[in-house]
Amino acid sequence: MSEPIPKPWITAIAPYVPGRATTDDGRRVHKLSSNENPLGTSAAAKAAFAAAEVTLDRYPDAAAAKLREALAAKYGLDPARIIYGTGSDEILHLVAGAYAGHGDEVLYVRYGFSVYPLAARRVGATPVEAPDEDYGTNVDTLLAHVNARTRVVFVANPNNPTGTFIPKAEIARLHAGLPKDCMLVIDQAYAEYLTEAEDDGGLALAESEPNVLVTRTFSKIHGLAAERIGWGYGSAKAIDAMHRIRAPFNVTTAGQEAAIAALSADDFVEASRAHNDRWRAWFAEQVEAIGLRAVPSKANFVLVLFEGALSAETAYHGLMDRGYIVRWLPNQGLPHALRITIGTEDEVKGVVAGLKELVAQAQTVSA
Ligand SMILES: *Cc1c(COP(=O)(O)O)cnc(C)c1O
Repeated sequence: MSEPIPKPWITAIAPYVPGRATTDDGRRVHKLSSNENPLGTSAAAKAAFAAAEVTLDRYPDAAAAKLREALAAKYGLDPARIIYGTGSDEILHLVAGAYAGHGDEVLYVRYGFSVYPLAARRVGATPVEAPDEDYGTNVDTLLAHVNARTRVVFVANPNNPTGTFIPKAEIARLHAGLPKDCMLVIDQAYAEYLTEAEDDGGLALAESEPNVLVTRTFSKIHGLAAERIGWGYGSAKAIDAMHRIRAPFNVTTAGQEAAIAALSADDFVEASRAHNDRWRAWFAEQVEAIGLRAVPSKANFVLVLFEGALSAETAYHGLMDRGYIVRWLPNQGLPHALRITIGTEDEVKGVVAGLKELVAQAQTVSA
């Protein structure tokens, strides 16, 4: 060998593709491709972020003690069983690294979050996809794909990129059907967009069951995507294992401070949820009225299916020409779909107007 050779399970990884921020011709326009909060960040979190400037020369608190205390107080959790990460993405990698390796399988549903196969391959494990049910998670098909090699099962609820959701009873049934030595990861990146009645019971399960880990993020409803902060809740053993492999000082001081402040910004979170409920419902209704299909969503985006004369690819470029960048997902088996983040009122209306024009154009062309 004349040069170092990366491990084959690493070169087998299809790199993560982030949502684009600029158009084909380099314009920076309306970004509806990464499920960010169109209302921005709460004033409290911004102020806390700014105030952290005076400690720029010091390492952050490696134990994130104040952040864990704040999360524990807010959600009624044991602070010792909270892990934090450079985004919840890091925690997804940590749990795969702690529980899976060569010869093991990591299971998730087709059209699941794109980081799951990446997290599996990174540690040399085999990613396994269970079929979806009309773009959503089906507990029976997931369970049918569990075998003695299955070490980790990832379920995003609501799921990204489909927005689909399974209720508490289904999560409980999934957990009950899994072997006790198989880790169930309930990825709740969009949990704050749900009503209290829609809680899928993940945190309660993680409280009592040693094989359940819940992950959450400050990137979505809290509007802190740039600071990269996520957290997880699980058994003391699971948290201990993940601490051993996480990078030291993995969450910045400003990030920790902003996150703590964000947890008290209830009005901002409530306004964000209300905005999303209102415009997601309106958007889905309009999309259906135009003759496209909107997959029912509980998150801050909608997966729109293009099954008629207008292709998703044409719509993707047509929306970009009009100044809206959305997510086209041919690499995730969804060449016929666009994932569109619920933006501001103007953005939502602009996208609907654009889609209307594009559908009309496609019908004229095909007539
Ligand atoms: C956005 C997202 C995450 C990760 O967010 P971070 O910014 O890394 O905290 C995790 N899971 C799902 C399903 C997501 O959509």
